Order: sequence, then structure tokens, then C-alpha cells
Amino acid sequence: TQETITTDVVIVGAGPCGLFAVFELGLLDMKCHLVDILDKPGGQCAELYPEKPIYDIPALPVVSGHELTERLMEQAAPFGPQYHYNEMVEEVQKLEDGRWRVKTDGGLVFEAKVVVIAAGGGSFQPKKPPIPGIEAYEGKSVFYAVKRMETFRGKNVLISGGGDSALDWTINLHPIVQSMQLIHRRDGFRAAPDSVNKMHALVEEKKMQFHLGQITSLHGDNGQLEGVTVKGNDGADYQIECDTLLPFFGLTMKLGPIANWGINLHENLIPVDTEKFQTSEPGLFAIGDINTYPGKLKLILSGFHEAALMAQAAFRYANPDAKLTFQYTTSSTSLQKKLGVA
Ligand code: FAD
Repeated sequence: TQETITTDVVIVGAGPCGLFAVFELGLLDMKCHLVDILDKPGGQCAELYPEKPIYDIPALPVVSGHELTERLMEQAAPFGPQYHYNEMVEEVQKLEDGRWRVKTDGGLVFEAKVVVIAAGGGSFQPKKPPIPGIEAYEGKSVFYAVKRMETFRGKNVLISGGGDSALDWTINLHPIVQSMQLIHRRDGFRAAPDSVNKMHALVEEKKMQFHLGQITSLHGDNGQLEGVTVKGNDGADYQIECDTLLPFFGLTMKLGPIANWGINLHENLIPVDTEKFQTSEPGLFAIGDINTYPGKLKLILSGFHEAALMAQAAFRYANPDAKLTFQYTTSSTSLQKKLGVA
């Protein structure tokens, strides 16, 4: 069994609001672990618009989604947050002493004084291709993400899709697999031109194959794939042999397991008060796009404000007898020490 990680705060979601919460909680000496289903920090900024400029972050007249994420990571770094990627928080349970037990789908278990839900539009989950019976193969020979490359060593892999994930994994996995094939429904790709060129070069060198068409059915036994039937663009069916299928059809946001955590929800959002940004459960907070209150704006700057007020309330919940004095980072030596600048 997995060892339980004991900490002050577990933050569900490493989007911009979760990242800034590390800073605000850190100023109050609260240590954070962040869990995100993505393989990287930044939430929507990183997954949906890394290259797009954002114009309404105070004092940053223009910043890309990627750069904002980098800067938030840098600002949080002095507080030593620990990041757990590729993990979905599945269970959040209140313990008798008022603390929380948090469990992920990958088997991590935390015990924390407070939990902050910064889950944005919900968990990013893979879009599944409409192939009948695909569920029987999921997790055995059909995978929607590459958690460990080693899983695919020596396999006969078929990747389906035409975006960056499909192209990147085709290129990155081809040296360790037995055989690599890519299938896409058309000859155009929504991926970096450099990756597309690399893939074409591998095909030229006969290191992989590329197919045009759509997978219509899977063949195999007990979840072990043996091959797929494809409808080609000329309308004719043909077979591809493979033992592993990786469909990369993009991600959608779903509320996910939050619905089962026993908190009040309103239209898939979490109602909070605007003093503490606390949910219907004391000690369980919600900030950023996932929360709702009168006048809520789904903007990054709103989430930053919410993080600051939430941190004050979280500190009081975790340390009911401690005194909390208001301090500025400009003039407080004690805050500057925590930041490593004094
Ligand atoms: P998110 O960024 O959504 O991050 C939440 C994270 O939580 C995700 O990574 C998700 O995977 C993770 N998560 C959820 N559930 C779980 C779970 N159970 N377990 C583990 N992880 C989980 N805002 C602006 O202020 N200015 C703009 O110019 C702007 N432009 C935008 C342009 C586009 C195209 C889009 C889509 C949004 C834009 N926004 C903009 C909105 C902004 O991106 C969001 O307000 C912001 O990302 C919300 O941050 P967040 O941290 O609350 O959530």
C-alpha cells in the first residue's frame, strides 16, 4: 500500500489560480501539494492557448498562456510546492478531526488540513473515438495518454489522430516500439509543421507507416487488441495489424469526480461565499473558474483575488488559535525571509 502524504494543503488543479494559491498560502507558512490530471502546469492557459496573448493580467500588458504559467511557477517556487501530474483527484473525504483525505486515480493518498479546489472547467479528459466496444480494450491495449513510455517498448503501436499529441508520440515512441503506424482521416494535420515533416521523413525511411482513413472496428480477445478495420478514404475497408492503439483526439473538460465529493453544486459549479471562498464544507475551499457567487467573472485576475482571501480563511481553519497579522511583502522582513530575498 501507498504511504500517505501528510501536508497542510492539497490543491486540486495546477491552473493559474491553483498556482497563485501556492504563493498566497506560502506567505502564511502553509505547504502545498498540487495534483493535476494534465502532464504539465497551467490548466487552460497551457492546454488550450499556450501561444495566445492575454491582455488583462494586471501589470503585464501582454503575456502568453505559456509565459504566464512560467511566471506563476517562478513566483510559487520559494515555497517548495510539490506537483503531481497525470493524476486525477477522485476522492475527497473529511476525517473526524476536521482534516481531509484525498485520493487520486494513480493511488496517491494525502492527508491535509485543508483542500482547495482550483479545478477550472473540470478535469481535462480525452475525447474518445466513436468505435463500438472500445471500452473493453481501454487500459489493456487502448490508451488515451502515455504515462510511461516503457509501457510501449516492443509493441506494435497504431496511433490515431492528426494533432500535436498524435504526431509527438509517433515521433517519440518510434525508437522503442516494434512497429509504428499512424492513421488519420485526412492528409492535413493540426500539428507543428516540424513534427509533420519529421513524421513524413520516418515514412520515407520506412521506419513507420502512415494510413489515411478511419478506424471502424477493433478485433481481439479479452481486451487484447490484434488488429483494426479501417474505412479508407476510397470507401473500401482494410485491416491493420497492431497490439496497441493510442487514439489522440483532443481533450474536453468534464466536471469529473467533483460531483461525488458531497458538496453543494449549482450548474456544475461550486457555490462559495465571497469572504472565504469556502464551499458548503468548512475547510474545503474553491477558487477560480470552478466556483460561483453573485457577480463572478471567469477571469484569471478574479481567481488571484480569491486565492488571497481563501488563504487567510484556510490559515484560520488550520490554526484556529494562531494570530494572523496583516503584512506587506514590500516591508515585512518575515515575509521576505520566506521568499528568500531577505
Ligand atoms: P483551469 O485553468 O481550468 O485549470 C484547472 C486545472 O484543474 C486543469 O488543469 C484540470 O486538469 C485540473 N483538474 C480539474 N479537476 C481535476 C481533478 N479532479 N483532479 C486533478 N486535476 C483536476 N482569462 C483571462 O483572464 N483573460 C483572457 O484573456 C483569457 N483568455 C482565454 C482564452 C481562451 C481560449 C480560454 C479557453 C480561456 C481564456 N481565459 C482568459 C479564461 C482563463 O483561462 C480561465 O479563467 C483560467 O484558466 C481559470 O483558471 P483555473 O486555475 O481556475 O482553472
